[in-house]
Formats: sequence, structure tokens, C-alpha cells
Amino acid sequence: MNLILLGAPGAGKGTQAELLVEKLSIPSVSTGNMLREAIAKGTDLGKQAKQYMDGGLLVPDELILGIVAERVAQSDCANGFILDGVPRTLAQAEALDAKGVKIDHVVSIELSDDVIAGRMTGRRVCGKCGASYHIEANPPKTEGICDLCAGELVIRKDDAPETVNKRLEVYHASTEVLKDYYAKQGKLRLVEGNQSIEGANGDILKAIGAKA
Ligand code: ADP
Ligand code: ADP
Ligand code: ZN
Repeated sequence: MNLILLGAPGAGKGTQAELLVEKLSIPSVSTGNMLREAIAKGTDLGKQAKQYMDGGLLVPDELILGIVAERVAQSDCANGFILDGVPRTLAQAEALDAKGVKIDHVVSIELSDDVIAGRMTGRRVCGKCGASYHIEANPPKTEGICDLCAGELVIRKDDAPETVNKRLEVYHASTEVLKDYYAKQGKLRLVEGNQSIEGANGDILKAIGAKA
């Protein structure tokens, strides 16, 4: 089963992807995590991506398509994968179709902009594995430490309020059109994001025809 998770920044894509990895036994491909890892390692990709990410802008399509095509071709993706945060532009979606990357369901996690600010101010992410936490809604067992890998939890630079507003603008201008694109292909499933993490997860599993 090949899935795409769509949704505004902070809608819960990363959180839901982590749960789906467990329940569906397929890997998650998060372009945001891959890019943050590249920045941390100081690779060429990281150097090219950093300025865009820090400004809340999208990284150019060519850079993204290269890393995604390479990742989904790996053997652990053979039985399915979850794309978290990609595609984000019409050009990316068309390129995936053109490359023959088959998509079964596109789940859009729906959340209004006014709820998103609170999600972002409380977000903490693992600097090592990328797992996402929230200081109130989804705290780690030990403050500041990742449950999964014991890595240190950090605040993302682009979760500063000014940058969050820019990212929301970019979402509405460049990414939201993908809902129409996939609706026309009969693949779009809408899920309410303004509910508990478990509740949203159950709705996603139902929407893709998997057992909860
Ligand atoms: P969120 O879902 O909270 O916005 P992500 O981790 O998915 O966060 O993305 C963080 C940043 O990484 C984006 O603002 C953008 O700069 C870059 N990025 C991630 N995925 C893509 C993509 N598919 N296309 C372009 N830029 C991307
Ligand atoms: P995205 O990947 O879409 O940017 P995340 O999964 O990182 O979003 O979630 C953004 C923040 O909101 C994180 O701090 C996360 O723990 C929290 N969060 C995710 N889902 C929910 C939910 N259903 N209710 C409350 N907080 C949530
Ligand atoms: Zn971790």
C-alpha cells in the first residue's frame, strides 16, 4: 500500500506516519526529516536546502524529486511506503506520476490555521531520529528525551511564529491544490485533524480500508 499524507504544517503528518509505520509495517519517507538530516551532516543537499527551510520556503522540486525517487526504489519500500510531506507542489505530484510511482490513497489531514499555532509552539522533535512530540498533547516519557532512540529533543528553527505564518502561506499557495489533483484521480480521503492523535489514526485507517 502506497500512501501520501497531505496537510498543512503541524496538521499531524509526522505523528500519524509514525503510528502507521507500526500498524502497516511499511516505512515512512519524510522529506523534511531527510533534509534536516542532510543539514545536520553538512552534505551538499543540506547546504542547498538550509536557506529555503529556515525561511519557511519550499526547497526546489529537482532536489526533492532526486531524493524521493532514490528512497522509494530501495528494497524496504517494495511492499509499500508512506510519503510524509511530499509531494508539496503540482510539479512534484506530476513528476511522481510520470516516474510511475503508484499511489493508492492520499489522506489529507484537515486542520484550520488558527489551531496550528498551538501545535507549533509546543512541538519538539528528536534531533536524531526525527520523531515528533508535543509538550502537552504528546509528551515524551522523560522530558527532553526521545522515547524511541533516547536522542535529544529540540525546537525546530522554522517553528518560530513568523516562519510558521510563511509556511502556512506557502501551503495554501502551492500545496493545497494537490487535494484537487488527487480528488480527480479518485484517491483523496479527508480526515479530521482536530481530534485526539488516536482518533485521527483510527479515521485514517478506516479511510484507507485498513483494520484499526
Ligand atoms: P511541516 O510538515 O511541519 O511543514 P516538514 O518537515 O515536512 O514540515 O518540512 C519542513 C521544510 O522542509 C519545509 O518548510 C520545506 O522547506 C522543506 N520541505 C520538506 N518537504 C518538502 C517538499 N516535498 N518540497 C519542498 N520542500 C520541502
Ligand atoms: P506535521 O508533520 O504535519 O508538521 P506533526 O506530526 O509534527 O505535524 O505535529 C505537529 C505538532 O502537533 C507536534 O507537536 C505533535 O506532537 C502535535 N500533534 C500531532 N497530532 C496532534 C493531535 N491530534 N492533537 C494534538 N497535538 C497533535
Ligand atoms: Zn529519536
